[in-house]
Amino acid sequence: MVESDSKKTFRENVESYIDQAIDELNISEDISKIVKACRSVIQIKFPIKIKGKTEIIYGWRAIHSTHRLPSKGGLRYSQNVNQDEIEALSALMTFKSCIVDVPFGGAKGGLKIDPNKYSEEELEFITKKFTRELTRRGSLSPSRDVPAPDVGTSQREMAWIVDAYKSLHPEDINYAAVVTGKPLEHGGIRGRLQATGRGVHQSLKEFFRHNDELKKYNINKNFEDQIVTVQGFGNVGLNTCRALTEDGIKIVCVSEKEGMIFNEKGININNLIQFKEDNGSITGFPDGTFDKDPFNSLFIKSDILIPAALENAIVLDNVKKVNSKLIVEAANGPISFRANKELIKRNIPILPDIYANAGGVAVSYFEWIRNISHIRLGRMNRRYEENRGRDIVNVINQISDKKISQKNVETIVYGAKEEDIVNSGLEDTMRIAFQEIKDLKNKHKLSDYRTAAYGIAIKKLEKSYLELGL
Ligand code: GLU
Repeated sequence: MVESDSKKTFRENVESYIDQAIDELNISEDISKIVKACRSVIQIKFPIKIKGKTEIIYGWRAIHSTHRLPSKGGLRYSQNVNQDEIEALSALMTFKSCIVDVPFGGAKGGLKIDPNKYSEEELEFITKKFTRELTRRGSLSPSRDVPAPDVGTSQREMAWIVDAYKSLHPEDINYAAVVTGKPLEHGGIRGRLQATGRGVHQSLKEFFRHNDELKKYNINKNFEDQIVTVQGFGNVGLNTCRALTEDGIKIVCVSEKEGMIFNEKGININNLIQFKEDNGSITGFPDGTFDKDPFNSLFIKSDILIPAALENAIVLDNVKKVNSKLIVEAANGPISFRANKELIKRNIPILPDIYANAGGVAVSYFEWIRNISHIRLGRMNRRYEENRGRDIVNVINQISDKKISQKNVETIVYGAKEEDIVNSGLEDTMRIAFQEIKDLKNKHKLSDYRTAAYGIAIKKLEKSYLELGL
């Protein structure tokens, strides 16, 4: 009889992962206490009047760490938002930033609302009011705390936050850096919208470059032959599917809130994206069988399972049904601590959330840099690079009797655009981070990649806290 873990909260699960890393790496217990403590949590209850009725909106912003500033993390709109969840997510943000080496502390915020219940104008009103409440309390500024989109929010909400913040701080020349994940017209960066999904894809590609690791788990080394199932088709799930499809990977199952689509031959992802755009949901997609229970997507037989929805999807009660050889956590906290232990016993490797989905915050860092430096990446050197390429082609043509093909000329005479630079930075980030995780795991013979990832983050925090003083 397996013990149920449904009583363990998300925050307690994160704490158990911290304990495991502290224990396996022999880090001092004092560091564990420091790392677990969320530095501050603001709870705000503000009234709004909508359709003649007064409602109280509950919101939180948790700042887990300020060892680097600003603190960074998304803003979630969901009926299930609560303080425990926001604190857990803020801790994950601290660890993520450490792992992908961006100089941010960790934070997370949320409003306990069902965004589908409100009109666009009402959501704008609620978002701007929340922004004012946070700004008034000294949270929220380009140098202190910088939100980004998360579940239930998007570029649209970020634009509203910029607008509200700017009206309160017209003197702040860096106002656009108060949030990341903005629309391009308001200081966003090309590639941020797709960044988390692309980062998940990069994490997988990097894993498949390490034959020694694949062997330990009996995983077929050909990335292109993998069969994938994805739980969740929001921004992260969708862009993960898109990136995998560009690599020719077969995705047999995709789910979202209303149910799942299964097609043994592989789902045409571009058609599915178009279908969702046209119909607002994947329900009724003709090329596959539909199952009303989206959770079944977690148990489809596949090589790679990608949970890309919410926390605690795989728990002790259902972990036995997982039928994949590798799991990549595109969502935050999709596997409970105890379920994780079972998966380790079954020798199923997991690329953990704090690494696999950290592409989002990495590209947020690039956006923030763009905003505070007030210049588009590549603007200063794109044409210079292009001209250098042209000079090289001319020299080769002068000294050689062979002609360079037009295709090669185009490749050489090319200056990197903003999106190229962002994607190159993202790829580099994800590659280096995995190598560090792998090295630490092997050096200390740790249980799994997650323990190693937590270990890297905790060791960095330990160093920073000890150097700065408590
Ligand atoms: N929602 C993103 C995450 O969970 C936000 C990260 C950011 O601040 O860009 O990683």
